[in-house]
Amino acid sequence: EAIDVEEIDGVGKVTAQKLREAGFMSARDVAYASIRDLLGVVGSEDRAKQIIQSAQRLIGLKSFVTAFEVYENRRSVKYISTGVKALDELLGGGIETRAITELVGEFGVGKTQLCHQLAVMVQLPEDKGGLRGKALYVDTENTFRPERVVQIAKYRGLDPQEALRNILYARAYNSDHQMIIVDEAKKIIDSEGIRLIVIDSLVAHFRAEYPGRENLAERQQKLNHFIGQLLRIADLYNIAVVFTNQVIAQPDVFFGNPQKPAGGNVVAHGATYRLWLRKSKENTRIAKIFDSPMHPEKEALFRIAEEGLLD
Ligand code: ADP
Ligand code: MG
Repeated sequence: EAIDVEEIDGVGKVTAQKLREAGFMSARDVAYASIRDLLGVVGSEDRAKQIIQSAQRLIGLKSFVTAFEVYENRRSVKYISTGVKALDELLGGGIETRAITELVGEFGVGKTQLCHQLAVMVQLPEDKGGLRGKALYVDTENTFRPERVVQIAKYRGLDPQEALRNILYARAYNSDHQMIIVDEAKKIIDSEGIRLIVIDSLVAHFRAEYPGRENLAERQQKLNHFIGQLLRIADLYNIAVVFTNQVIAQPDVFFGNPQKPAGGNVVAHGATYRLWLRKSKENTRIAKIFDSPMHPEKEALFRIAEEGLLD
């Protein structure tokens, strides 16, 4: 069903190969690319524009569709159960494909635990809340623990070894590396059957590498580019993207929440759904959706246990 890049008007063998090497595997990938994305591959801006437009014609991409088409299109959206009923209800069914879900909260609140859980849950059959798919886990903080996967998989009735094999793991050493990994991921999403991409965490490298006000513009620009790419991948391949985010203190806030998610507007606008986690008694946690286009502002309770996240 994927149309080869060589079928795009004006793309010969050599350009086709260059496109594939850059992660543009099909006409669809090219059609949704920005001119800037293609510039490095095809040399000139004019040629990039011409190739993108040819690709758009080839796949029948239109500038306007009816709301009915949007509605029909959204029916292809699937959900990955979090394994916690209250959390699934809060999210309206679970973690959505074709969308980005942000997990934000203080250190130790359970963001990484939820990432582990989702990497297992996505593997379950559809009637058990999964998508019978694999997970791609991008770890920037070196907090991925396969032992946790084994514990969660056992509890969910999966063969632990198989569960481990169905998680493709990449350690990202810096922000550029993080972006390269996601570029590379495009090449294997379809062939490996990946249905979930986890980025834990999204902004840590960016914040460390671009400190202070003087680097803010460049950092936000790169972050914006990265999130745009994630959103495109989620939509094109009908997969779920989940990233974690840190909170930062707002010293000038005396009323209301003194914390806010890192990454500013770029992250706020990029994430489709934003889930704020906070600590309650002992191992209990409270989750709340904020800034959602379609969810009411309510809360859900869960706890973290040996078996993973539970109601
Ligand atoms: P974050 O990523 O938000 O900083 P984590 O996801 O690493 O936080 O969550 C850490 C919390 O998870 C710890 O407070 C700990 O209570 C809980 N936790 C981790 N492993 C286990 C386990 N095996 N059994 C029970 N709770 C665990
Ligand atoms: Mg963590």
